[in-house]
Amino acid sequence: MKYNIKLKNEKDIIVLRESCKRLAVVLQTLAKEVKPGVTTGYLNDLAYKLITEKGDKPAFLNYQPFGASYAYPGSVCISVNDEVVHGIGGDRVLKEGDIVGIDGGVTHKGMISDSAVTVAVGKISKEDEELMRVTKEALMAGIKAAKGGNYVNDISKAIEKSIPKKYGIVKILSGHGVGYKVHEEPYVPNFDDGVKGPKLVPGLVLALEPMVNHGTDEVYLADDGYTFITKDHKKSAHFEHTILITEGEAEILTSW
Ligand code: MG
Ligand code: MG
Repeated sequence: MKYNIKLKNEKDIIVLRESCKRLAVVLQTLAKEVKPGVTTGYLNDLAYKLITEKGDKPAFLNYQPFGASYAYPGSVCISVNDEVVHGIGGDRVLKEGDIVGIDGGVTHKGMISDSAVTVAVGKISKEDEELMRVTKEALMAGIKAAKGGNYVNDISKAIEKSIPKKYGIVKILSGHGVGYKVHEEPYVPNFDDGVKGPKLVPGLVLALEPMVNHGTDEVYLADDGYTFITKDHKKSAHFEHTILITEGEAEILTSW
């Protein structure tokens, strides 16, 4: 299997680090704004303001992924409850007990970062707290396995292993390379698909992003052509970091 992988050079990594730092600040600011009564459109517009006032671009705005019929209209993806990923901000009002995934990307001097967090709206149930914790831990398990010399499949296996069997791991969406484009090779499944994949070498930049559901792992695409929703309408959580592969432990570029 031949992979089309674009390793990042030292100069690009310096710029990417800054892109990732800026994204982390944006996500941190948005997370603080999440409360009952706030609309998803407000969060989206605030993201646009925070990113553009620094002279950067929201990486997802007007991005047209392969197969999509129109360009993505939001500045960040905002996905509530049974919405898994790629939700579009609008009039929806967040209410106590919701969980909301915010997935952002910043294009800074041509280098693209990608990171997501799931945030509680007011007080949430113990079960939803647990779902969020499990998903975040799965991301950290994946990062831990992303050591130089390992293979993509080692990350996938570590993510799957860390998630208790009662949860559904979304399989039709995956992590990916990032940096020059929003989505680059290699793709990083969140489960063991039996493919060893490419070797992890210094300069490889990945966005790891487990998506974990309370119920079934099956999802469907909503009529808006972007939002993925769980088939049984149970809640889903999503955490994502952009990481840099080194000779040893991976460096988390979007941490906060
Ligand atoms: Mg993302
Ligand atoms: Mg991503």
